[in-house]
Amino acid sequence: MTCNWCESSHATSSSGTVYWELPDGTKAVTITETPSVTCEDCGMEYQEDSVVKEIEDQLFLINTKELEAELTYKQLMAKPRLLKRNYFDFSS
Ligand SMILES: [Zn+2]
Repeated sequence: MTCNWCESSHATSSSGTVYWELPDGTKAVTITETPSVTCEDCGMEYQEDSVVKEIEDQLFLINTKELEAELTYKQLMAKPRLLKRNYFDFSS
């Protein structure tokens, strides 16, 4: 894959640790094993936009008051989302 920073073709997928501030700014969480891209040439490690968006969406939709200070990406994505509407209303 191609590095977003230096356009080298030596970038490879990896998994890394990221530190994320919650949308409400109350605390930061450590997310390990996050899908990442590592570039051999410039040394950058970063997350693709789709992964960043998934993390942001998830942190916005789950109950962050009960969130661990450190968890894996998979654990984060497995958290139940708080539903803004009645999920069990099948009448519509
Ligand atoms: Zn690079």
